[in-house]
Amino acid sequence: MSKIRRTIKYESERDGTFAEEIMASPGCEDLLGCFQCGTCSGVCPLSIYMDHTPRQIIYLTRQGFKDEVLRSNTIWLCASCYACYVDCPKTVHITDVMYALKQRAIREGLYPSRFPIPVLAREFYKMVRGKGRLTETWLVVRLLLKTNIFKGFGMWRLGLGLLRTGRFSLAVESMKHPEELRRILDASPAQHGKKEVA
Ligand code: SF4
Ligand code: SF4
Repeated sequence: MSKIRRTIKYESERDGTFAEEIMASPGCEDLLGCFQCGTCSGVCPLSIYMDHTPRQIIYLTRQGFKDEVLRSNTIWLCASCYACYVDCPKTVHITDVMYALKQRAIREGLYPSRFPIPVLAREFYKMVRGKGRLTETWLVVRLLLKTNIFKGFGMWRLGLGLLRTGRFSLAVESMKHPEELRRILDASPAQHGKKEVA
C-alpha cells in the first residue's frame, strides 16, 4: 500500500470541532492524554501496512485534520487486537478511537472508492437491519458488485462449490419480527445521524 508522504499541513484543512466530536464517542474521552510516545505504533502488528501509524492518527485527529484521517487506510486496517491499548502508558483507548473514526468515515462517505472494508461494513449493517439475520451469499454478492465485479467472475467456481456443499445458500434468512430489531437500533444513541444507511 502506498504511504502518504505529504508533511506540510495548512490551518485551513483543520476542522475545529472534529476532535471534540470523536471524543464524545464512548471510550474516546482520553484522546488528549496521548503524549505521542509511539508505543502504539511499535506494538501494532499492522502499522507497517498503514499509511499513518496509530500514533499519527491520534495526533491528526486531535489537531482536527478530519479529511486526512477519514481517508486514511489505517482505520480500516486496524484489526481491533487491542495491543496498542494494553501497552499505552496513558491507557488511551486507541481501538475505540479507530471504531469511532470508521463510523464517521462511513457516515460521511469519506473512504477510498471501491475500498472493500467500509463497503462490507455498510452492507453488513444494512442486511442485519433489514432482516435481523445475515445471509452470507448475498453479502458477498453485494460486496463484489459494489467493489470489484470482475473478481466475482473469477470466483464462480468457488461459489458453486460452496453452494453445492451447503456452505452457502441462496435463501434469504430473516428473523420473525425484524421491525422489532430496527426499533432497538433506532433507539440506540449511536444511531443518531446514521439514517442514510437504512
Ligand atoms: S501509546 Fe498511548 S500515549 Fe503513546 S503515542 Fe500511542 S496513544 Fe499516545
Ligand atoms: S487495535 Fe488496531 S491500531 Fe491497535 S495494535 Fe491492534 S491493529 Fe494496531
